[in-house]
Amino acid sequence: MDSLNRPDKLCADRRSQGQTTRKTQLLDYKAWDPPGPVEQSLFQCYAFGMSDVIVRNRPASPPTCIYCRATTHPFTREHAINEAFGTFKMDSANDFVLKDIVCQQCNQCFGDTIDLVLGRDSAEAILRYKFGLKSPARAHELKYKRVALKFRVEGPFEGAYVEFGSDVGGMNLVPTFPAQIGLRWKVSGKTKWLLESQISGEALAEYRNAQPGSLEMLILGPSEMDRKRVENRVRAVGVPITNKRDIVGRTQTNDQILTEISTQLDADILRALAKIAFNYVACVDGADFILRCDFDELRNYIRHGTAPRMPLVVLAQGGILTGEPSGLKFTDGHLIAFEWNKTERGLVARVSLFNHTKYHVLFCTDYSGIWSNELVSGHHFDVETGEISPLFSASTIHLLGVTPGKVALRR
Ligand SMILES: [Zn+2]
Repeated sequence: MDSLNRPDKLCADRRSQGQTTRKTQLLDYKAWDPPGPVEQSLFQCYAFGMSDVIVRNRPASPPTCIYCRATTHPFTREHAINEAFGTFKMDSANDFVLKDIVCQQCNQCFGDTIDLVLGRDSAEAILRYKFGLKSPARAHELKYKRVALKFRVEGPFEGAYVEFGSDVGGMNLVPTFPAQIGLRWKVSGKTKWLLESQISGEALAEYRNAQPGSLEMLILGPSEMDRKRVENRVRAVGVPITNKRDIVGRTQTNDQILTEISTQLDADILRALAKIAFNYVACVDGADFILRCDFDELRNYIRHGTAPRMPLVVLAQGGILTGEPSGLKFTDGHLIAFEWNKTERGLVARVSLFNHTKYHVLFCTDYSGIWSNELVSGHHFDVETGEISPLFSASTIHLLGVTPGKVALRR
């Protein structure tokens, strides 16, 4: 604790402002000698209350961007959860929108980069269509650089790449096969699928000297021109076309097909998820808290992509909600929780959009402030109704070392 935060200094500050409370008197009564463990617990709790008061009483500092710390840039509104994933409201006073704490420059930079990636090129982006947050008519906006959809129906096309288009009315998603080739050994029946962009001499090396009749080629693509292009590319890398089946790459409207989504979780996606957690904590615990230097590593990772000393966003095991069995979802809404880590020294968030993939976001491993259960929170964002509801019971300041009560979150 530095000299500014010493309780005796805090008390002096408060007395000079003509304020006395029971807490002040208690702190006055205690000497600044190292207390015993139980006393220390009490001591720090009260010190927290005091520093909170001091913060509120000090002259207002100029609004500061929580990402770049600029005070002179114009500010804008930043939704805690990108609007691409729904708009939400808890009550008239709390819509989880950050006001005057994120500058236009940062907001614009996020919108052009990491938010765009999360909204259009991630597993979560696909789920926007599933849960009605995006019209099928806009399916062409999806990107497939980080996401691959694969056909998971037994038969000759199993494992083929799929993309989403829409029907004529723009009301339904229609799976289509992008230009690709499937190479199937007749003996094993195993098919390797390659998108047009993946065809290379190296990728096709094992098929170059195939015995006549041992290999079958399935060429898929929306138009004859697409399929011709694939064929030419295969020939260009020295593999002759044999036993070819040329197939129009479109399924029937209303076809229900099982698809498997795989995502490459690169830094852009992980930073976008971290930003949701960071925004959330700024909403719940305030700008002064999130501007603490404890969180600079995460702040710089989100804002600039600065490589952290350890991974700050990782996949989380298990569900977030207490009692939710694996394979069964209590909700399709978004879940965010902010809490102490297992050592109770660091702070972490758990984030899951659509209660689908769960991520851990490390805020810091060793928080320099005072332990308080008031920092802990969790909310459910109902995608269907737009309502936000808390996941924790009302929290209070707990003594050091006492495990905080959690009613709805799984540890
Ligand atoms: Zn900024």
